[in-house]
Parts: sequence; C-alpha cells; structure tokens
Amino acid sequence: MVPKNHPRYKSLMLREKIEKAYKEGILADAGMIAHGRGEAFDYLLGEKTTKPAKNAIQTAAASLILAENPVISVNGNTAALVSREVVKLADILNARIEINLFHSTPERVAAIEDVLKKAGAEEVLGTESEPSELIEGLSSPRANVSLVGIYKADVVLVPLEDGDRTEALVAAGKFVITIDLNPLSRTSKKASITIVDNIVRAMPVLIDAIKHLKRYRVEELRKLIVNFNNSENLEKSLKKIIENYMKSDVGS
Ligand code: ATP
Repeated sequence: MVPKNHPRYKSLMLREKIEKAYKEGILADAGMIAHGRGEAFDYLLGEKTTKPAKNAIQTAAASLILAENPVISVNGNTAALVSREVVKLADILNARIEINLFHSTPERVAAIEDVLKKAGAEEVLGTESEPSELIEGLSSPRANVSLVGIYKADVVLVPLEDGDRTEALVAAGKFVITIDLNPLSRTSKKASITIVDNIVRAMPVLIDAIKHLKRYRVEELRKLIVNFNNSENLEKSLKKIIENYMKSDVGS
C-alpha cells in the first residue's frame, strides 16, 4: 500500500490501478508502456490541467454537445483508469461506448466490457456480437468498427490513441477528439481537438464543461469551435513544458 503522505501518492495510485488492470487481463503489455510514457509527460506538465488543456476541453465539450452521433472509443488504459467517467459522459451526451483495441483478443474485449458494465454501462459496442464495418487505411482487427457506433459517428472521442488510427478516422470524415499527455505524438497532431492532460483529470472537467455549456445557444457553441486552433493550442502546451523546465533548478 502506498502511504497517503507519499509525495507521489496520486501518481503511484494510478500505477497500482494500471498494474491491477494488467493482472486482470484488461491491459496488454504495451498498455503499461503507454502509461509510462504518459507519466513522463505528466511530470513535465507539472501534473496539472493547464490553461491550454482547459481551452481544448471547452471546445471538445461544445463539439460533443453539437454532435449528432457522438461515440466514446475505449481501450484498456481508459477502462482501467476512468470507466465510471466514461459511462457518466455517455449518459449526459446520449453517446455510445465502443471498445477498440490495438492488441485485441476476445478475452480482453470481454474483460473491458465487464469493467464498463460494472461501471453502469447499459450498452457496449465493439464486441463480437454485433455487425461491424471496416475503416479504410488500417490493417485488421483495429480497422473493425461497429456499424452503429464509430462507423456512423460524426464526433469520436478517442483517448490515448495511436497516430495511424487517428489519421484513418480523420480521413473517414470524423471529427476526432483525443486526450493525450504527449503534445508531440502523431495522434495529438492529427486530431481535430487534442486535450493535453491526464485522462483522470480531464474527464471530470470535460463532464462539468458539458453540463455547463449545454445551456449555451448553438451559435455560441459553434463560435467556440471555429475559434479553436489545435496546432496553436499544442504549441501552448509545449510552452508550458518549457516554462516548467526553466522554473526548475535544472533550468537555472
Ligand atoms: P502516436 O502514434 O500518436 O505517436 P504513441 O505511439 O506515442 O502514439 P501510444 O502508445 O499509441 O503512443 O498511445 C499512448 C499515448 O497515450 C501516449 O502518447 C501517452 O503519452 C498517452 N497517455 C498514456 N497514459 C495517459 C493518461 N493517463 N492520460 C493521457 N494520456 C496518456
């Protein structure tokens, strides 16, 4: 057990969750490595939801509210860290939840479905029991998407995604929102909106933003989206990292 007064308590608790999920078959080996990469960037970002992240969250909230068929794509890391928030988000948006995995096995899909159902999800797409279609430009099985889920979606939230799939989803005409701690990743650069933040901090803020912005008029929400520039916002996230470095003893 990690003592509560440990200076890295929050980060170590997340590690424990990831380790547990790995042992339960929810996460592939590569999921642990992806988490480690995320930790490194979180350290550099100061482990806080930065101003550029908040800006991206507001815009993502507006896009999700205006979406006709929003879908939340879930992988092992997302299920391990924020399954309850995924279900809450789907509820307030009337969005669908779909499992899509880089290292897919029927056992892992079943384990993730179980986690989501235990978190309260009534419907989980991306299992083998429903019809699927192919997204072009990807090799199977990741190219398989649910016919009524991602295939039909106009806006897709794909946290912790890889660049190829993000690119393929954008090429398929989807508006892609991602949550990725690495502002330099291919996903971050390819997505329509990138929230550079830890998914455990970003999801509750996103849920609150949606609750708040739901009262806004459509034109006001559209304005938020039009005024957002993803590349500029990514640059601001990078600047935060540089600022943190300059403030540290190493930078002096
Ligand atoms: P790309 O192909 O986009 O360059 P990648 O190969 O760097 O991606 P993957 O392993 O496919 O990365 O995806 C994992 C991404 O998720 C990494 O960029 C990592 O920083 C990020 N990540 C890991 N854990 C978290 C987390 N808890 N919250 C947000 N992002 C995270």
